[in-house]
Amino acid sequence: NCKTKEEVLQIVKEQNVSFIQFWFTDVLGVQKVFSVTPSELKEGLEEGMGFDGSSIQGFCRIEESDMIAMPDPTTFQLISWRPSDRPVARMICDILKPDGSPYEGDPRYVLKRMLKKIADQGYIFYVGPELEFFYFTSDRAPEYLDRGGYFDGLPVDLATDLRRQTIFALQEMGIRVEYSHHEVAPSQHEIDLRYDEALCMADKVMTYRTTVKEIARQNGVYASFMPKPIFGENGSGMHTHQSLFVGDKNAFFDSGDKYQLSALAKHYIAGLMKHAPEITAICNQWVNSYKRLVPGYEAPVYVSWARRNRSAMIRVPMYKPGKENATRIEFRSPDPACNPYLAFAVMLAAGLKGVEKAYKLPDPVEEDIFEMNEKAREQAGITSLPGSLYEAIVEVSQSELVRETLGDHIFEKFVENKKVEWDRFRTHVSRFEIERYLPML
Ligand code: GLN
Ligand code: MG
Ligand code: MG
Ligand code: MG
Repeated sequence: NCKTKEEVLQIVKEQNVSFIQFWFTDVLGVQKVFSVTPSELKEGLEEGMGFDGSSIQGFCRIEESDMIAMPDPTTFQLISWRPSDRPVARMICDILKPDGSPYEGDPRYVLKRMLKKIADQGYIFYVGPELEFFYFTSDRAPEYLDRGGYFDGLPVDLATDLRRQTIFALQEMGIRVEYSHHEVAPSQHEIDLRYDEALCMADKVMTYRTTVKEIARQNGVYASFMPKPIFGENGSGMHTHQSLFVGDKNAFFDSGDKYQLSALAKHYIAGLMKHAPEITAICNQWVNSYKRLVPGYEAPVYVSWARRNRSAMIRVPMYKPGKENATRIEFRSPDPACNPYLAFAVMLAAGLKGVEKAYKLPDPVEEDIFEMNEKAREQAGITSLPGSLYEAIVEVSQSELVRETLGDHIFEKFVENKKVEWDRFRTHVSRFEIERYLPML
């Protein structure tokens, strides 16, 4: 499916493509787009297209605002939700500085750099994310579209139809969908992508979010990846299945082990566990993310691993014991409102640190951690994830691992941005306070 520059030019001509969108991602994971006309495309493919980076979140300072978006021709796709008589295409871009070198503020570069490092050691990083989301009647209030529950099938309502349309749209864009279902909360849905190499998957996650939102919009409703839109209901997670391969051999698999996990996989889990608190700000980057990471809603609160226990932060699924390729770990804390390039990069960095330093894996905790009291948790050595964006900022700002992975530029921009976000929240007077304190005080 990969295309060369020449093939891209040929398709654009043959199919009478009207615009080619250049896509890239800011530091917070927001998709940025500009459109190029076919007459400019040849030059764009050769030299990239210049743009002003000064207003892009987490990009450059004003005095160095000239940036170049260099499209990756292998990502060329016709956009399936646009009319087919005058098709629109998209390519995903790398951001370069005017001298042609990679821009250190580009999240895609962060992930590429990380993947290059492991490729040099012979590894391929595969990820399979499960993005959950809600359909609402609009973006003004979280009003349900349906009242279904987990795996509910009938009756076929608008939401089921939207989900089907979305899957077709994704497939037409070359994105393989593994399965999809209604999630636990009313109006909550999940579409799972087949695992892929991490860079390709981060591109797919961006495309997925845009496609889900676009199909909803075309049907007059709103799709949201907000981590916890409704108090008292499950929030939306992005459980991320991950494994390291050497060629076509799964380096996480060991048929002789009682968990069927290799020593490498165990060190990797231990690395994710040890560094989980400091990478949480990246995987759960909003004030609202921490309303999801509370007991009782199938989202993790404590740092632990298990085979079955869904209150664990890391789960080792064993649906198909003995099947080498299916051996992987599931990291359950990330939410779908993260920047996937940065999130995949820090997860991998945390796991690899465990491998490099041969961290010892603690025992799994199969009982429900939410049922244990503080003392029992302490005795079992179970620590917590940050409880708020503030706690997460404190953890991440001290993290050498995250600084090294993101590079100084993004690291500093990110932390600075999140401090501002926290301050806005902290100084805001909420409805909770008015309703509780005004009658009382
Ligand atoms: N929605 C839950 C979460 O926040 C996950 C539910 C599930 O997939 N079983 O992570
Ligand atoms: Mg799932
Ligand atoms: Mg789910
Ligand atoms: Mg899952």
